[in-house]
Amino acid sequence: MSDQAFVTLATNDLYGKGALVLGSSLRNHKTTRQQVVLVSPQVSNNMRAQLGRIFDEVILVDVLDSKDSAHLALIKRPELGVTFTKLHCWALTNYSKCIFMDADTLVLCNIDELFEREELSAAPDPGWPDCFNTGVFVYRPSIETYNELLQFSTEKGSFDGGDQGLLNSFFSNWATADISKHLPFIYNLSSVAVYSYLPAFKQWNPSYGADAKVVHFLGNVKPWNCSYNPKTRCVMRDSNDYSSAVHPEFLNMWWDTFTTSVSPLFTEQDIPKETSSDKQEEEKLSEAVSQLSFTPPAPVVSSEERRKKWEQGQADYMGVDSFQNIQKKLDAYLN
Ligand code: UDP
Ligand code: MN
Repeated sequence: MSDQAFVTLATNDLYGKGALVLGSSLRNHKTTRQQVVLVSPQVSNNMRAQLGRIFDEVILVDVLDSKDSAHLALIKRPELGVTFTKLHCWALTNYSKCIFMDADTLVLCNIDELFEREELSAAPDPGWPDCFNTGVFVYRPSIETYNELLQFSTEKGSFDGGDQGLLNSFFSNWATADISKHLPFIYNLSSVAVYSYLPAFKQWNPSYGADAKVVHFLGNVKPWNCSYNPKTRCVMRDSNDYSSAVHPEFLNMWWDTFTTSVSPLFTEQDIPKETSSDKQEEEKLSEAVSQLSFTPPAPVVSSEERRKKWEQGQADYMGVDSFQNIQKKLDAYLN
């Protein structure tokens, strides 16, 4: 099966984190196929090294950007122009068939059976089901298709400014031509769609994720931006927190994979030894390492609010209330 691969993409270290979790979830569920990650030059050396421990190939690609701010503004996702970079996946002609998966997807079981499908197979988009969602799709690498796609993108652009608009126009008969190219929704279950049809979700997911095969954290809420409490193994949420919009069980599953399979890779000896005294390199490395911490910088809360939260049992264990910080405070008192 060395001529078939799962392919993902990361143009920065945050999406790199997503790719690490996706790659680990594929490994944990014992895929027999190759695993490839496309990275852009913005991805740090440290992140590339970590990706190399999970993926069979880490391939450097240029960033392709639609620079179509007008259409991207309509979907409120100005950052998605770079998803044109996905098109490079068609250039992986060492493989005869591939499955592209967004870096914000998580595999819940072995999905190797998807290789039986043909180009272009994908699941419906929850927002407009006559379009396919480009978070998971089956395709055949081909330089011819690659060139056609690049030409199509310069001539016609994308109706949403991202890869999804472009690919839907290119494979324009997907909705009607061949039902075998419609993947069941459980191969690309968007965590936010759960709420739009809860009875259906319950019907196919009686025990949360039992039947779902791939979860897609579609939208601007990404699991790596949520705070996680490793003690309770739960993502921390409050009522005005964006993460409450996403199904918590799936966020917990993502973090569970991160803590059990990915973070053990980031031990101190993994940090490459300094070979040069180049200050910039040093700074880049420490920035990369700091990006890999569990939580984004904690919002500044007043000590009053913090005490209230603490008393309600909502201590910020990974941030201001971390054991390290408490110990520092004790040391300061003792000294
Ligand atoms: N991506 C990336 N860097 C970015 C934005 C996107 O590498 O700055 C890649 C990544 O693989 C991501 C995919 O493009 O999963 C599609 O973007 P995203 O998942 O954010 O879009 P959504 O699924 O939310 O529409
Ligand atoms: Mn996505």
